[in-house]
Amino acid sequence: MSRRTFFLNRREFVAGTAALAAGSALPLPAFAANTVTLGDFEVTTFTDGHINLPAALRAPNADPEKWKEVLERAGRSGDTYKSPINVTLVRTPDELILIDFGSGPRFVPTTGKLEAALSDGGIDPMNITKVILTHGHPDHLWGALNDFDELTFPEATYYVAEKEFNFWKDPDAMKSLPEDRQNFVVGANTRFESIEERMKFVKEDDEVVSGIRVFETLGHTQGHMSVELKHGSESIVVLGDALTNPVLSFEYPEWRAGTDHLPEVGAATRKRLLDQLFASKARIIGYHLPPPGIGTVVKKGAGYAYEALA
Ligand SMILES: [Zn+2]
Repeated sequence: MSRRTFFLNRREFVAGTAALAAGSALPLPAFAANTVTLGDFEVTTFTDGHINLPAALRAPNADPEKWKEVLERAGRSGDTYKSPINVTLVRTPDELILIDFGSGPRFVPTTGKLEAALSDGGIDPMNITKVILTHGHPDHLWGALNDFDELTFPEATYYVAEKEFNFWKDPDAMKSLPEDRQNFVVGANTRFESIEERMKFVKEDDEVVSGIRVFETLGHTQGHMSVELKHGSESIVVLGDALTNPVLSFEYPEWRAGTDHLPEVGAATRKRLLDQLFASKARIIGYHLPPPGIGTVVKKGAGYAYEALA
């Protein structure tokens, strides 16, 4: 109880300081949420901030002129691309289930806003009952630990794909990643060690609770999972990073993504997913799609496009 009180006081202090620094009397609301419903599930996305990614995304087979046009539409400005982060919270009649942990305080300064966003939305991290992890990248996993290196969601059970866990635990993981991403392995291992006690392994098609199922969408990482929320014939698919960019991932799924661990597998997954998502008319939530990250897959020419929910 006392730790919690201190934590909130510190939060207010930090928020107040940031507002003063910005020359504003009122802190900007971090809560950029949008809620949709599915049966008796209430599904809300919360912002965790954004990442500035280098625009040097690879597309070895792209026509250079087309490439330039696509990059502009995809939100490139100068050398960087601003990639937003949307974390999904599912409120069921008896649980609060988070999909991914956000980035936490130790990734990059533009991220780690999830706790503040949840708090603005009236959600106490202590009340989160389950967290489903899509994959072990920093913006999805590092938020498992808070400012004090304690569990951010201490009462929750964590659902992790065994394949994903094994990849990050493998002593060879470091070698398989480019040099600038090798600290991802150290960071992932620190978090996994901290959450292991409360962790449950899941695999293809496992149901976490009735109506919430995980399935493999491999390629972005070795064990990447997406989450399907289902009610009758209706569904919402929380994609993690299976489709990351509103232009590239939908219109040019075959182009390699620089952030995919297994680019060929990632491309095959995107193509299969787009066909399925279009056919099923599912609503989708993308971790890095423009806020609030909720939309559908529509036809465009011979391929597909992203349509944000109005
Ligand atoms: Zn990500």
